[in-house]
Amino acid sequence: MKKGLLIILSGPSGVGKGTVRKIVMRDKSLNLAYSISMTTREPRAKEKDGVDYFFVSNEVFEENVANGNLLEHAEFVGNKYGTPSDYVEKLRNEGKNVILEIEVNGAKQVLTKIDKKDRVTIFLLPPSIEELESRIRHRRSETEDIIQARLEKAKREMSEQNKYDYVVVNDTVNRAASAIKSIIRRSINRL
Ligand code: 5GP
Repeated sequence: MKKGLLIILSGPSGVGKGTVRKIVMRDKSLNLAYSISMTTREPRAKEKDGVDYFFVSNEVFEENVANGNLLEHAEFVGNKYGTPSDYVEKLRNEGKNVILEIEVNGAKQVLTKIDKKDRVTIFLLPPSIEELESRIRHRRSETEDIIQARLEKAKREMSEQNKYDYVVVNDTVNRAASAIKSIIRRSINRL
């Protein structure tokens, strides 16, 4: 069996990566699986442990870093996030095409570890910075300080879009999802 493709989906916090990814994953013909990350962040209202993230203490996170269990990891506005490598490997060995929804510093680490032919990188952009701010505010889960920090970080992240294989604008979620599905389909075909 052919080993699955690694799909890296990045883009600023609040751009709608999760929403678009969920629509993309409805297409069963793409044989996709989602890599659940580990984080030290507190769960938001509707988030579930083991579904949205593995929510862990700082101590457990650092243990995983020390034991080399993470394919990549990064700090983002005061919290740590990382991708457990054994889970991603297991899924790819089963032939699944695995989506990592991660920020830009983690994405850079993956580029150094996974061969170009085995991966595709996609950057999701908001239609404008104003639209991004409004989306972050609508989430209503964060304090003003955190919102400002996420917006600052978003501007820095957006300057890295040219390092990705593809840039997709999230003007409407369905349009963005179909663009991403075509990119994934093409990348699978060239594997
Ligand atoms: P949030 O707190 O909004 O869920 O996530 C903050 C940022 O961290 C988002 O850009 C999200 O995609 C990213 N992120 C989530 N999981 C990981 C991960 O495992 N590694 C890295 N590097 N970033 C992640």
